Amino acid sequence: MAMGLARDNAAGEAPRAFLVAEGNGTEAALIEDLTVHAAAALRQACDHLCPLPDARLPRAMPVLLPASTDRGPDMRDVRGQAQARRAMEVAAAGQHSALLVGPPGTGKSMLAQRLPGLLPPMSLQEALECAAVMSLTPGGFRPALWGQRPCRAPHHTASGPAMGGGGGNPRPGEISLAHHGVLFLDELMFFDRRVLEVLREPLESGRITIARAAGHADFPACFQFVAAMNPCPCGYLGHPDRPCRCTPDQVRRYQSRISGPMLDRIDLQVEVPAQDQGEMLDGPPGEPSAAVRVRVLAARERQLARQGKPNNELGGHEIEQHCAMEPQAQALLRGAMTRLAWSARSYFRVLKVARTIADLDGAEVLTAAHVGEAIQYRRALRMAGG
Ligand SMILES: [Zn+2]
Repeated sequence: MAMGLARDNAAGEAPRAFLVAEGNGTEAALIEDLTVHAAAALRQACDHLCPLPDARLPRAMPVLLPASTDRGPDMRDVRGQAQARRAMEVAAAGQHSALLVGPPGTGKSMLAQRLPGLLPPMSLQEALECAAVMSLTPGGFRPALWGQRPCRAPHHTASGPAMGGGGGNPRPGEISLAHHGVLFLDELMFFDRRVLEVLREPLESGRITIARAAGHADFPACFQFVAAMNPCPCGYLGHPDRPCRCTPDQVRRYQSRISGPMLDRIDLQVEVPAQDQGEMLDGPPGEPSAAVRVRVLAARERQLARQGKPNNELGGHEIEQHCAMEPQAQALLRGAMTRLAWSARSYFRVLKVARTIADLDGAEVLTAAHVGEAIQYRRALRMAGG
């Protein structure tokens, strides 16, 4: 099919150029005094007619959208839980994944739902990508959500295709709808293990490929992963007042429902313990999200200035380049790796978290204190499991 597109000069006379479909190129070229361009796809034709000067904005200087007035629930509502609040701040600053472990009713879901409100405003590029994914859903793009980081919280009955995407005419799944935002899985243990495995590859690559008989579809899925779970089947392991009724074997089987490789990909494993009732109800309100966000933004700006991306996205040689440690910090990290039998992946993830903690501290070189805090964030399940 000839596209019938011609680019004339102002006078409407020769020289003229024709842009045709590839299959018609040879035929069109037979005409005298005619420049013929063949395009393999409509997209190529568009690129020819409207060349983009520089499609991709440099990450170091993002165009920030005006902060939305409605940023959802506020950290002010979370009383106590200092360690878990701090972990959410670290997660937001370095775009790290997090698992919150604790008995029912300790505020795990409240904390997770408040993470999007701590994140930096979206860049224009990020907002465009989110809008593009949304436009592929049955509801289409919703202008009211423009520039807002998505927060998706699929139910634990979600199927693999609902999570990862799929269908005859492939549609993005929850992980792609959470692109540049937060994917929150509450009651992580109730999710089908095969559904959780869908997350593994995108957590590394930020994309998902859906294979189909007729080819494959590729969707972006660069999301921040947050999950919550009880420490044991009854929920009260480690609780100061309520006894846990589970046997050690039941606890082990329960916790091992998350595979080791999956757990490896979660940067921050945080205990959210039962609190004193008085503190929960009468304690002072927590620090508001806006105040936390100021520190998160400063730490994120350090990252973008140094390496052009959040710490979570640092690759192998970049980690070595940007995570210089003091000798004591190095000794501490090596010791923990041996003692806790970490994989190389765990080691590098801890190092990236320590980098973020140092960025929140305004420090260039990682100290033992930074590394020590990062190590603590990898022990919630082990500690609970005994
Ligand atoms: Zn129990």
